[in-house]
Order: sequence, then structure tokens, then C-alpha cells
Amino acid sequence: MDLIELDDFHWLMDILQTIDVGLVVIDRQYQVQLWNGFMENHSGQLASHIRGNNLLTQFPDLPIAWLQRKVEEVFALHSPVFSSWEQRPRLFDFASTRPFTSNSALMYQNITLMPLVSRHGLCNHICIIIYDVTDAAMGKQGLQDANQQLKALSITDRLTGLYNRGHWEECMRQEYQRHFRSGSPVTLLMFDIDFFKKINDGYGHPAGDTVLRDVASILRQQLRATDVAGRYGGEEFGILLLDADSQTAWLIAERLRQAIAQHIVHHDNRMIEFTISIGLAVLDATTTTPAQWLVRADEALYHSKRTGRNRVTIANGQQHPILPSALVDSQAATAVIAE
Ligand code: GH3
Ligand code: MG
Ligand code: MG
Repeated sequence: MDLIELDDFHWLMDILQTIDVGLVVIDRQYQVQLWNGFMENHSGQLASHIRGNNLLTQFPDLPIAWLQRKVEEVFALHSPVFSSWEQRPRLFDFASTRPFTSNSALMYQNITLMPLVSRHGLCNHICIIIYDVTDAAMGKQGLQDANQQLKALSITDRLTGLYNRGHWEECMRQEYQRHFRSGSPVTLLMFDIDFFKKINDGYGHPAGDTVLRDVASILRQQLRATDVAGRYGGEEFGILLLDADSQTAWLIAERLRQAIAQHIVHHDNRMIEFTISIGLAVLDATTTTPAQWLVRADEALYHSKRTGRNRVTIANGQQHPILPSALVDSQAATAVIAE
């Protein structure tokens, strides 16, 4: 090596040492040949301690099976292998350099394993290149989180946290389709708070809001995980009762009606009691559109209103469930609208 080549070599070594990328060269026995400044800084291990030692025994936390598979692939094919943080967040468990601003305690890494092939075509060494991509990963994750939050906001009613009308109607259309594919029973429950204007007028609009929030939390307690509840309008709610025939739907509706009638809303040291009127429409072959399904439930609801409120009506002469007498609230008149 003449003088210029030696100079070149030193410059190269300087660059390898200071570049903000991790460089590790290993041989076929995983003995470390090169460990640059980036690796020293982030691992806390000096090159002088690591060089000549086995990488796998020095770092027992490495994903050994994965690394061995990749290393064998590179040695066999003489071509580089790339792994992004999205496939595997990191190879080395290094701390993030900006733990406070990046939201991540650990560094995200893209990894390249590159074959080092000699002039004679022999490959006995591999260079592992580690890129710190924490900022990009966090940026992407932040964007995904923000998108998820936006999506949640766009389908949620602000006041109650239930689905808003648009999203709930979309769910209703999907359940309508699903019923005719799978044949599993589904019942639409609509309800409206009785004399809600009087609550607003008597206790104030914020008290009315508290009533609406309480209704939502009673729904969350009472409903099954598969039921889909939405705020349809001001004080009108819709619930899709999945896998519920008329009997099951009736029981759920009665339980909900009673829970609300027994509930006391506390607002500004005042106690408010209220009731709801419910309409049920079991989806059947005579219902030809989602809109018609909704109209039937709505007609049943208004039948409950007309006949005294605080009661459940099942739509359109659909089979009236036979209930054990203990479950029938004496207050509740049961009703069926005739065709
Ligand atoms: P009915 O038993 O016949 O249903 O009587 P009602 O008084 O409940 O009748 P109506 O449906 O006409 O009244 C609904 C009221 O709900 C009118 C509206 O001012 C009020 N409202 C709608 N949205 C909200 C809201 O977000 N908060 C509050 N506090 N009130 C609301
Ligand atoms: Mg009302
Ligand atoms: Mg209303």
C-alpha cells in the first residue's frame, strides 16, 4: 500500500467510525471484526472489548434464530437482505436518543445485511448496517394514531360517545344485508325519551344533556357486546339487537325500559326521573328495504307514545312473544300494531 492508499484507508476508517449509522462486520462464526462508533455509543460496549468475540454470546437478547436465518441467506445467495422497522422494530435493543420527544423509549431500526465479497468471489464476512429510523417510525405511527382518532371522531356522537346517526345507519344497512345472507335473527329497537322538552324546560338544557349521557351509560351497562347502539337524533336512539328474535328482543327492551324508569339522574343537587318509549321491528321477509325496517320500528315507537308512553311495542303484527309472567312489568302495557 503506498502513502496515498494508506491516507485513503485512514479517511475511510474515520468515516466508518463517525457515520451516524451502525456498522458491524462479522465472520461465519459470528466473531465481530468491526464495531463502529455508532455501535459503541449506543451499546456502551467499546470496539476493543467486542472485537474477536462472538456477537450472539455478547448480546444474548438478539433475535438469534431470525438473525441466523438471515445470515445464512446472505452467505448462500451473496446478496443483501433488508428488514424494515415495520417488519421487526429493531435488531439491537438500543435506547432511543430522544426518549422525551419521540414517544418511544427504544430506537426503531432498519437493518441491512450485506455480503462482503472478496476480489476472488469469496464471501466470509457480512456487514450488518443499522439505521436509526425512530423519527420516521414515530412520525408514521403518530399519523396512524391521528387518523384513527379522526375516524373515531367522525363516527361518534360527541355528547354520548355512542355511534352518531351516519355511522349507525351504515351499521343498520350492513346488518340488513347480513340477515338475508346468513338468516340470523336481528331486531331493530328505537326509543325516544318521554316528555324530554319538560326536562329541558324544568331543569335547564345542561340537565337535559346529563340525562342523555346517563342514557348512554345505561345502554353500555345493559346491552350485549354484539348490540350496536347509536344516537339517532336529539333524544332518539337506535339499537341493533344482533341474534335477537322477537322474544329475546322483547326481554332486552323491557329490561332497558325498566332500568331507565328506575334510574335517577343527579344534576345540580336535583334529582330527575324519566321514562322512554320503545318500538321494536324484527327483520323478516316482509321488510324489503332498510328504510322500511326503520319506519316499522318508528311506527311501533309512536304507538307506544300514543298508548301512554313508558312501554314497548312490537311492529306490524309480528309474533308477540310469550313471556313468563314474572318478567312482565305491571306498569308496562304490551302492544302489537296490527297490519
Ligand atoms: P315525547 O314524549 O312526545 O317524545 O315528548 P318530548 O318532549 O320528548 O318531545 P320532542 O321530541 O318534541 O322533544 C325533544 C326535545 O329534545 C326538543 C329539543 O330541544 C331537545 N333536544 C334535542 N337535542 C338535545 C340535546 O342535545 N340536549 C338537550 N338538552 N336537549 C335536546
Ligand atoms: Mg321525546
Ligand atoms: Mg323526539
